[in-house]
Amino acid sequence: MSEVKLTPMMKQYMDIKAEIPDDAVLMFRMGDFYEMFFNDAEKTSQILDITLTKRGGVPMSGIPFHALENYLPRLLEANVKVAIAEQVEDPKTAVGIVKREVARIITPGTVMDSSVLSPKQNNFLISLSYSKGRYGLGCLDISTGDLRVTEISTKDELETELHRLQARECLISESLKKAWEKIDGEQPIISGKMSWTPLQDWIFSFDTADELLRRHFAVASLDGYGCRELQLGVCAAGALLYYAAENLRQNITHVKRLKTYQNNEYMVLDHISQRNLELVTPMPGSSKEGTLLNVLDETTTPMGSRLMREWILRPLYNKDAICERHDSIDALKDDPLTLAELREIIGTIRDLERITARLNVGSATPRDMVALAMSLSIIPDVKYLLSNFDVPLLNKMREGLNESTELVQRINNTINDDPPVKTTEGGLVREGFSELLDELRRGATEGKSWLAEIQRKEQERTGIKTLKIKYNKVFGYYLEVSKSYTDRVPKDYIRKQTLVNAERYITPELKDIESKILGSEDKSKSLEQEIFNELREFALTFTSDIQNTAGALASIDVMTALAECARKYNYTRPHITEDETLHIINGRHPVLDAQMVGDRFVPNDTLLDGDENRMMIITGPNMAGKSTYIRQTAMLVLMAQMGSFIPATSATIGLVDRVFTRVGAADDISRGQSTFMVEMVETANILNHATAKSLVILDEIGRGTSTFDGLSIAWAVAEFLHDSPNSRARTQFATHYHELSELEITKRGVQNYNVAVKEYGDQIIFLRQIVKGCADKSYGIHVAKLAGLPQSVIDRANEVLENLENNAMEEAGRPAIAAHRTAKKRKKVIQVEEPDGPYQASLF
Ligand code: ADP
Ligand code: MG
Repeated sequence: MSEVKLTPMMKQYMDIKAEIPDDAVLMFRMGDFYEMFFNDAEKTSQILDITLTKRGGVPMSGIPFHALENYLPRLLEANVKVAIAEQVEDPKTAVGIVKREVARIITPGTVMDSSVLSPKQNNFLISLSYSKGRYGLGCLDISTGDLRVTEISTKDELETELHRLQARECLISESLKKAWEKIDGEQPIISGKMSWTPLQDWIFSFDTADELLRRHFAVASLDGYGCRELQLGVCAAGALLYYAAENLRQNITHVKRLKTYQNNEYMVLDHISQRNLELVTPMPGSSKEGTLLNVLDETTTPMGSRLMREWILRPLYNKDAICERHDSIDALKDDPLTLAELREIIGTIRDLERITARLNVGSATPRDMVALAMSLSIIPDVKYLLSNFDVPLLNKMREGLNESTELVQRINNTINDDPPVKTTEGGLVREGFSELLDELRRGATEGKSWLAEIQRKEQERTGIKTLKIKYNKVFGYYLEVSKSYTDRVPKDYIRKQTLVNAERYITPELKDIESKILGSEDKSKSLEQEIFNELREFALTFTSDIQNTAGALASIDVMTALAECARKYNYTRPHITEDETLHIINGRHPVLDAQMVGDRFVPNDTLLDGDENRMMIITGPNMAGKSTYIRQTAMLVLMAQMGSFIPATSATIGLVDRVFTRVGAADDISRGQSTFMVEMVETANILNHATAKSLVILDEIGRGTSTFDGLSIAWAVAEFLHDSPNSRARTQFATHYHELSELEITKRGVQNYNVAVKEYGDQIIFLRQIVKGCADKSYGIHVAKLAGLPQSVIDRANEVLENLENNAMEEAGRPAIAAHRTAKKRKKVIQVEEPDGPYQASLF
């Protein structure tokens, strides 16, 4: 770059480039284009597929200014930060180079443009601070003003939280980044599209953060926000505000609150379970309809939809809080008329959170203003309908609603019902609102009738019937006369332009009228803008009220959506206890149940109790329904704890602290590990962390390796979960190794189940019913036949199977598997645990 001689423009470019973050692309406004230079040009031309040229050795690319909205999402999608430098001077009056300034810097985590954001999902910027093994985590959605902090004590928990938030961008200190780079495996694993933004260490210091936050919230101490014990959390939140306000020059006045939360208030749902259960995102290759969110999201507003997602990912771990939600659904469900009416009127309310945010940063349109008034004007009706209920949680939500009557009235009095999108083009302020404005507008319209009058007069005077008054931007109003009549043009006409077929003239009278028309038009437009800005200032004083209202509305929306699901899909209220019961009668898989029309989904019971029914071993042929059944259990527990009713005829659910799942064979290519390795890592995680309050769902453990290895591992894992005093978690273990059912013989808490099938000639029929006992055959060969393998292969397979089955027994006919440990050792254990099991006696 040093060989390039800098022109004044390039010097200005370099100066601006130096003041924005290093990794941001600078879009430099030049006339009707945004231009990019040097590396920025190369980068953007690649991502946006636009032409890369060279001028004076400088690589450059550009986009038309009006197309920014189309290109911006693609850059953000590619995790590119964009700084936009605008011309802040009128080029006509500027001396030398037009002055340019950075108008805004947009990053994936701080974008506010509706063309980029999904209405149904929060867009989080998060930040991490670290000290002595603990993390502070701050989380900001600048598009709604939502700011939260928490602290986290393990990397495992951190990963869980990162997956839950699905943030777009994460701030970390440079030294934390370096520390991670030094030690392999230190950096938390993330999914999705999050990018890391390192910042200087001092930005994460407590003093800086504390001071910044106190100044932002105008308080003497942060204790009122519950931050006394959250020093690291404060550091993280401080970095968020610093980054948004200082680095990116974003306006964050709408960030009015700081919420603290603790992860032990929620059931832990690690990213593996989140993915395996397809809660909010489908497995790769599966359809979008297959998620729990898709079934439950009967919300009618964007705020509600965002909150529904959050409730699904944060089931509660507190009986009272859960029951409060159940009480609300009970009440709403019992009054279907009010429920329907509530849903209908809430559905007309717009995205209050994002409108308020846009108002604060100054990007709200007149239409946003009208939408705000319209939405707020519905609040009294919502309150009225809610007063039909007397349930503590619904009462609390109702109290959170604020009509903001004064604001509604003022907007309605000021702005037209159907205003234009822009504030600059006029036509947004109601007639009768301002006498001055009305007068100016009259000037403009009267001016137009004067023009008509002049045209008529001049036609008469010259006798040219085709004489017309027209307008263009270059010389305003003019008289146009076609070539054939130019000899009739009077002397006082001043010629301005000659065309092929016509001549254009002006007269002093015409110019006089013109200045009156244009003057009043300009004046009225700027007066309208002024009026709009005043209204905006007034609306800003309602920011907190509107945010509270939006929050309450979101909860009401989710509550009514869950009540609607309960009605629509015939859900029942689960009974929540604090013991280790898990007793479900006629449970159904929520997603398959919703997808299958009629009664085609076969319901099943579940009985786990942390005691004699601690572990269910479920055998059955492929495709019988094992995986569906055990996922169903996890999903029903999750739904119950998020406060929803569940698809079952009745259920008692002892609170679950964490759901563990080890399901299927998800090959995690991004981590470069083999399927089996992933399977074992996930299994290790379960064995290390499950507690007596946990629910463990294991599907086909050991499948990823050879049969004997796999079976041995599955066996040992089951034993460990059953015996380990720290664990004893409620467990469902689906397996095609029906040898595992022998565990029932030696382990008191193990119960065998299988998915019933019926043989019909040489066919099998899947009954989808979970019954006691183990499957007597694996039916693998039947399934192979169903799949269309040639009959000769099927026959040969049957032969081989027979041989294998004979050899699988020792000479005395004892099952080889159970005898892997020395008989002596086994005997000892059995004497302690089950002194006189009749079956054991015959075995050993
Ligand atoms: P497995 O794990 O035993 O191989 P799956 O659980 O994957 O079997 O089930 C296979 C298919 O059977 C599912 O995709 C689903 O369509 C169907 N199925 C499973 N359980 C039921 C049920 N209870 N009622 C109706 N259909 C079911
Ligand atoms: Mg399966």
